[in-house]
Amino acid sequence: MSTHDVIVVGAGLAGLSAARDLAAAGADVLVLEARARAGGRVEQTTTADGRLVQLGGEVVGASHTSYRALVGELGLTLGPSFTDIPGESTWLMNDGRFLGDEMPWMSARDRALYEEIERRFSALAGSVDPDDPWAHPDARALDRISVGDWLRSEGATPDVVRAIWTAFAPSTPTSRGPDPRTASSRGCAKSSRRESVSRRPSDSRQRAC
Ligand SMILES: Cc1cc2nc3c(=O)[nH]c(=O)nc-3n(C[C@H](O)[C@H](O)[C@H](O)COP(=O)(O)OP(=O)(O)OC[C@H]3O[C@@H](n4cnc5c(N)ncnc54)[C@H](O)[C@@H]3O)c2cc1C
Repeated sequence: MSTHDVIVVGAGLAGLSAARDLAAAGADVLVLEARARAGGRVEQTTTADGRLVQLGGEVVGASHTSYRALVGELGLTLGPSFTDIPGESTWLMNDGRFLGDEMPWMSARDRALYEEIERRFSALAGSVDPDDPWAHPDARALDRISVGDWLRSEGATPDVVRAIWTAFAPSTPTSRGPDPRTASSRGCAKSSRRESVSRRPSDSRQRAC
């Protein structure tokens, strides 16, 4: 029977990173993976016409400093995401196919409301100390209310909630970010404050390849 200092269960990025750090520190590490491939929720495939398609994690922001350092260390490259590719966005919605960079269901009034609510959320995020979020005077109340309920309490229409939902979780609610139905407003305000330190939406979306 073989013995090891550490057994890591799961060869996703977390398990592989942990194993790598442990091995670098001199530990004898065994990584166990249930599937036939490493990578977990990071997976890439190639279409019949040769295009690379990401099936999981792909977007890296300017604040993902550890990830970017790893990219550099491994000699990988980062490419621009779809937001930097010239041309308009295509929206495939239940109610049709739309072209354009604006969310097609938003009226001018919705857009103004979206910006106003975003401004209020930024102000709230600015009042939360990311290193001590429970010190906020409204921490308990904010922790009990979901982002969706907070948005509605601020007067967001269903279309504005849908827009913020889309911005939060473009593909799946739980994989890319918090689910606004269940994530607490305190937690999101805290994360938002951390993210805003170095992130601009227009330059933060890059894809590892
Ligand atoms: C569609 C999609 C898009 C995403 N987009 C982004 C993005 O753009 N940017 C971003 O930062 N993140 C994104 N993510 C999230 C990101 O992919 C994950 O947060 C990250 O890959 C999780 O890594 P992990 O190692 O923690 O877990 P996982 O990748 O889930 O790895 C866990 C591994 O453990 C294995 N395992 C589980 N149980 C056992 C067991 N009992 N025995 C052995 N093995 C086991 C699993 O098979 C798996 O390989 C996306 C995810 C998805 C699904």
